Amino acid sequence: MIYLDYSATTPVSYDVLESYNRTTRDYIGNPNSIHSLGLESRNLLNSATKQIAELFGVLESEIIYTSGATESNNLALIGLANKYRSRGNHIILSKLEHPSMYEIADYLEKQGFRISYVNNDKEGLIDFDDLRKKIKPETILVSICGVNSETGVRQPLKTIRQIIKKENLLTFFHSDLTQGVGKVSINLHDVDLASMSAHKVYGPKGIGLLYKNEKIELEPLIHGSGKSSNVRPGTPALPLIVAFSKALRVSLNDLEKKEMYIKRLNDKVVEHLSKYEDIQINKTKYSIPHILNISLKNIKPETFIHSMEEHEVYLSTNTACASGELSTSVMAIYSDPKRATTTIRISISSLTTNDEINKFLMYFDEEFNKLNKMSS
Ligand code: PMP
Repeated sequence: MIYLDYSATTPVSYDVLESYNRTTRDYIGNPNSIHSLGLESRNLLNSATKQIAELFGVLESEIIYTSGATESNNLALIGLANKYRSRGNHIILSKLEHPSMYEIADYLEKQGFRISYVNNDKEGLIDFDDLRKKIKPETILVSICGVNSETGVRQPLKTIRQIIKKENLLTFFHSDLTQGVGKVSINLHDVDLASMSAHKVYGPKGIGLLYKNEKIELEPLIHGSGKSSNVRPGTPALPLIVAFSKALRVSLNDLEKKEMYIKRLNDKVVEHLSKYEDIQINKTKYSIPHILNISLKNIKPETFIHSMEEHEVYLSTNTACASGELSTSVMAIYSDPKRATTTIRISISSLTTNDEINKFLMYFDEEFNKLNKMSS
């Protein structure tokens, strides 16, 4: 098998699974219970949170566990919008968000919020002047994806934060960092809120977190009891949290070394595919090497994905969450509907070997030449 869909999800690493299993077996108490088993679980929960907080240099109280990045994004946007409604009803998003963000934006629009979309340039970089112009006294939130899930375009969060705060000190800055964490270095002090998900960093599915600066308040999305956090009540998912903490510690290690290795593999694929006239490489100078997007001019992406699958090569169309639809991100960069509806995403990890890339390119040539000929 050649798995090249690491941006859709990653396999759980062995040590992470061990942490999950051990915690499930050895910590049966509810962290909210007051007896000794509960306290043991509570202590373990606190130490897992402390480790995550230390990794990012933030406070433990600034971490809210969720079921994944979709929930984190919902909690950040809706929770903040509802809390600060009296201050203003305007929210700004980029055109390079994960598809789920646009669903949240649509929901908020129906609740009476006004959503603006900031432009980007041909490299995918946020248009700073446009951002400045769009920030108004009633703008309560700007949300800009740190690393785009389809093209890998990375935004300069620190600069964006400076622009936002200069225009309106009261405007909060959220970033969906789901595709950035574990791939590139992240400074949570560049943002006020940030979303992450464990299954993108070799952790289990069903757990994510929202970083929220301590000065910010959020209206909960769900209501209930549990002392862990009044913003997201319920019994904490202790084994998932411990596994997430372990996954983060492992995946944040040696980031630069891993990135350089992945870049070499990415360069090899790009060089090889550049020889085809009927392939467009949707890579800009801001794309991180872990995510490589291409458009096949004459082949339907689903057809290509399935033909590669016959060789046990796993790729995706745009994102796993919007398969078969137009890639909003490729559209935002290239303004070309054909290019945006024929995308294939190849996502590479430090687990990917040179041999896998060689085999992938061999199968690619075979299937591409066959299907391209059939279509012409
Ligand atoms: N945001 C981004 C940028 C993503 O890539 C994804 C996953 N495809 C999500 C949000 C949703 O994450 P989750 O699966 O944890 O809900």
